[in-house]
Amino acid sequence: MQAQRKTIAIIGGGPAGSTLATLLARKGHKVGIYHLPKRPPLIVGESLLPAVIPILRLLGVEEEIKSFSTFKPGATICLDDDHHLAFGFDEARTASEYAYNVPRDKFDATILKAAEAAGARIFHHRAVVEKDEATGKVSLDENTIAAAEGFFKNGVDLIVDASGRSRYLPGFLQLEAEEGERKDTALFAHMENVTIEDEGHIHVDLHEKGWGWRIPLPGRVSVGVVVHPDHLKSLGGTKEEQFDTFIKMDPMMREQTKDAKRISPVLSYNNYQWKSKQLFGNGWALVGDTGGFIDPVFSTGLFLAMDSGVKLAAALEAGTLEAMEKYQHDFQAELYSWQSIISNWYNGKLPALFEMKKHLDRHIFGRIMNLFVARHVTRIFTGEIPSGSFSHKLLHFMFKHGIRGEVDYKEYAVV
Ligand SMILES: Cc1cc2nc3c(=O)[nH]c(=O)nc-3n(C[C@H](O)[C@H](O)[C@H](O)COP(=O)(O)OP(=O)(O)OC[C@H]3O[C@@H](n4cnc5c(N)ncnc54)[C@H](O)[C@@H]3O)c2cc1C
Repeated sequence: MQAQRKTIAIIGGGPAGSTLATLLARKGHKVGIYHLPKRPPLIVGESLLPAVIPILRLLGVEEEIKSFSTFKPGATICLDDDHHLAFGFDEARTASEYAYNVPRDKFDATILKAAEAAGARIFHHRAVVEKDEATGKVSLDENTIAAAEGFFKNGVDLIVDASGRSRYLPGFLQLEAEEGERKDTALFAHMENVTIEDEGHIHVDLHEKGWGWRIPLPGRVSVGVVVHPDHLKSLGGTKEEQFDTFIKMDPMMREQTKDAKRISPVLSYNNYQWKSKQLFGNGWALVGDTGGFIDPVFSTGLFLAMDSGVKLAAALEAGTLEAMEKYQHDFQAELYSWQSIISNWYNGKLPALFEMKKHLDRHIFGRIMNLFVARHVTRIFTGEIPSGSFSHKLLHFMFKHGIRGEVDYKEYAVV
């Protein structure tokens, strides 16, 4: 039996909204996207995980994205000047052995274009909603409907909020949410001539204060630092002063950027760790970052956002309450699962596990163990470590029992 065709309004044409729109339009649903493009000179979120590749293929956009991106064969963790750990994605032995580092403006434009090609209509207008206090039903306001030039004249079955970190509907509906423990500020800019140890890899660096990323892009490197705001305040009054002073003061960064030049303004992000307790309600649903975002450290954002688009499309196609409950459950389970891994980066256990490798390599049993663990740990960097998987359980077993006397995990905690 064919599922009922629906009319769906999506707020936001970022990666989550565009993925959802493409898949729904292909199934014959009537889809309109209200899209207000981001206007900052740079858009954060440039490192993709291999787990995204099957979604890019599903959307039919991989070749175009490849044409303007940097090939990414792995990830490198720098604990200090002497400890660089490189993970090739092929070590994970999973479906995707590579990813890309992407200029986000071009990436977002490509995904949105795919939605339009699939039949979704794009309206360049800020969407505004209103709520019927008697029924609790959410609908588009009069101006928003007018901006769609008759497209929604017969009504809208569902409003999907894909507004990203601006979290439009959760704010409007005052949805209950859980904030993350970290209150860091992320500063980021593009630079030229930054040292990159392993070609194409994202580099995640543990600094004396906080941590940072180096993402090689065509002709430039995206450099980010994630630091407690009190420390940043002590470095200067503006974002630019704070960023420039940080990279001069941190010993590892000073070396990495000794011949480098910043070629963009500095952008700042905070309060990004957030999970909504509810992902759908009367006439509405959330997809992507507006539903939840954990942390930038392992580049999970775009994968989880686009994957939630795939999951929500399947639930809407099924058209049942059970399917929507499953969508909510599965998206939230992924967010919690990643949160549990990421907290072991911040408390030092994950870096300590990497450090244990050296000690285990001294014995034949340890070397075999290392090979086995490396395969599963690498799946963190490919994004293929779903909640409840064997890799996930093994990792947590290792956090609990695998770090022994000679390595003190607290020394690797992010401060
Ligand atoms: C510091 C930091 C670093 C990150 N680094 C990475 C990384 O390396 N790799 C990675 O995968 N992820 C990264 N992320 C996360 C990534 O940026 C997000 O997960 C991703 O952009 C989410 O996609 P989205 O479609 O949900 O939202 P968005 O990309 O934010 O798109 C939402 C869109 O909706 C539009 N919009 C909002 N309100 C309205 C409205 N009322 N009407 C119309 N349009 C509206 C916005 O303008 C925007 O275009 C990082 C995040 C942070 C904070």
